[in-house]
Amino acid sequence: MSAARGGDGASKATRTALQRAVFLDRDGTIILNDGDLGDPSRVELLPGVVEGVRQLCANRYAIVVVTNQGGVARGKYDEAAVHATHARLEEVLREATGLPQVVRAFYFCPFHPEGSVEAYRREHPWRKPAPGMLLAAAQEHALDLSASWMVGDQERDVQAGAAAGCRSILIGAANGTSDADYFARNVDEAAARILHVDAPQVAAGVVTLHAAHPNLLQDAALRLAITAAAESLAERTGVRLFSLEWTGSQLTATLAGGEIVALGFAAELRRATQRWWQGHGGSGPLWAGA
Ligand SMILES: [Mg+2]
Repeated sequence: MSAARGGDGASKATRTALQRAVFLDRDGTIILNDGDLGDPSRVELLPGVVEGVRQLCANRYAIVVVTNQGGVARGKYDEAAVHATHARLEEVLREATGLPQVVRAFYFCPFHPEGSVEAYRREHPWRKPAPGMLLAAAQEHALDLSASWMVGDQERDVQAGAAAGCRSILIGAANGTSDADYFARNVDEAAARILHVDAPQVAAGVVTLHAAHPNLLQDAALRLAITAAAESLAERTGVRLFSLEWTGSQLTATLAGGEIVALGFAAELRRATQRWWQGHGGSGPLWAGA
């Protein structure tokens, strides 16, 4: 455990900087593979991978590959071959997407309890369905697991993702017995699903109301009434309200749906709270600027 994470202040700062990730399984998800692959020259991308990872990178998801490589434990190839295959995969992805970097990090588990190579013959917390690789990546690359996704073609991928606290997408034919949150035919479809589900948080609108007098919002009863009005307005209009923040004489509302929705919400909130204010003995305007 690193000491760099420090005390409360430092960990709070670290938390705000955490990045979302999409963990991708390798074989059968990113590359065509009918078994074990330790040969860099045979790296071949599956359909939809290039479009999918380009979309995810454009939306600032960290791409992390997590792959069981039991072929090492079975003596089919060594760890150096796995590294070489991953270097080639990253090269192919960069060429195809035109991006300077695609995969933030590769993690692989060379262990297998039935391996033939003594050194690798054991169970290991990194071997999916265990979540070890995802947990290590989150620690080493400051990733927010609860805001992240696991995408793979096997149920063990889904299980590893769930165990790490991520949402999951199963690639390929859905057989109906999976615990996956969503299903997709390929990485492109999975990326579209991820962007759609996460969209409200991406397109957040922020709007600030300023009290007409500096001390008005110090009144706890008034704050309570404004909060209730905002929540009831959000419920009535179907707008998702993420937060209300009080700072001095200002109220800042953050909600899903972007700037236009936020402006409309603010206008309506001004009207509703002004009425409440006047009905409860307030005189003059509650808010500045109108
Ligand atoms: Mg796979």
